[in-house]
Amino acid sequence: MIPVNEPLLDGNEKQYLLECIETGWISSEGPFVKQFEERFAERVERRHGIAVSNGTAALDAAIEALGIGPGDEVIMPAFTIISCIGQIVRAGAKPVLVDSDPVTWNMDVSQIEAKVTPRTKAVMAVHIYGLPVDMDPVLAIARRHGLKVLEDAAQMHGQTYKGRPCGSLGDVGTFSFYPNKHITTGEGGMIVADDDRLAEVCRSLRNLCFQPGKRFVHERLGWNLRMTNMQAALGLAQLERLDEFVGRKRAMGARYNTLLNGLAGAQLPLPRTDYAENIYWVYGLVLDDALALDAEEAMRRLAAKGVGCRPFFWPMHEQPVLQQMGLFKGERYPVAERLARRGFYLPSGLALQPAQQDQVAAALKEVLHG
Ligand SMILES: *Cc1c(COP(=O)(O)O)cnc(C)c1O
Repeated sequence: MIPVNEPLLDGNEKQYLLECIETGWISSEGPFVKQFEERFAERVERRHGIAVSNGTAALDAAIEALGIGPGDEVIMPAFTIISCIGQIVRAGAKPVLVDSDPVTWNMDVSQIEAKVTPRTKAVMAVHIYGLPVDMDPVLAIARRHGLKVLEDAAQMHGQTYKGRPCGSLGDVGTFSFYPNKHITTGEGGMIVADDDRLAEVCRSLRNLCFQPGKRFVHERLGWNLRMTNMQAALGLAQLERLDEFVGRKRAMGARYNTLLNGLAGAQLPLPRTDYAENIYWVYGLVLDDALALDAEEAMRRLAAKGVGCRPFFWPMHEQPVLQQMGLFKGERYPVAERLARRGFYLPSGLALQPAQQDQVAAALKEVLHG
């Protein structure tokens, strides 16, 4: 079976991890955490990096730190992972959805401004699958209406928008280090920001809002979202290779593009826009409506041929858990709905070999046209 993802851990990971064990520093108090935060923030051109336990936790803390609460509205894409919406809903705020662009699969920024109301507090931009959201229009709308901008850059380590690092464009950026991301810590995440106060609030929320002087007296409810020294050790070793990893992903994407060039019945990822070159976090496909099989059936047949695939996201307005809460009644986002049903991605991990890509492409051609 060719797995959908396999990470590369053959740099300094082992050495740094051993250092944790030999020094006894395994908790979040260890020195790698601060080093990883500083290097990561530097890489993203941000003043502050706050390492947390995962990318979902980074989003939760960022939403809380932006002060989003009851009655507030947050504009976000319909087509994204559930992690983006959890804390908005739990905080009693209202998620306001925007449909996707059918070509880039990112939120259609031309639909944002019509969704702004006097209650809108923030826009959450989620960079999807390898190409960033067109951020300049988002930032302009935010300026005009006094909105905060949160960037979910979980899939965008090393990607830039018009030459500026993803994660550095809004008020706050979040990353994940799950093993299918460009760099991994097993489980892990990072919040990045320039504003000292916002960063301080995130740091405090991460650590149960313990107070410096009166440790067990709390003015605010936080979480334990701390990253361990062992995770940060992995992160530091991975970060050293980020450029190499981005290069590998781009080569992987280019090879699939060549192998699948002219393939009838499927839309391939857009290699570039005028603001970015695709970094192929995953190599996605969207099957044409004319094709008899949908993504689910195509993935089943590919699995039978030893090719591990994953479906695209399922849109927020079609999530049973959110519908049961009475959210999004009667709302339709046709592009997101279609991406969910017709889209899936091929094996795209960093350890994927060219010969495996050849096998994947051959299997895909048989499944679609065999
Ligand atoms: C992976 C991912 C997350 C969640 O990160 P975890 O570390 O798995 O919690 C959030 N947003 C996006 C866009 C992601 O791809």
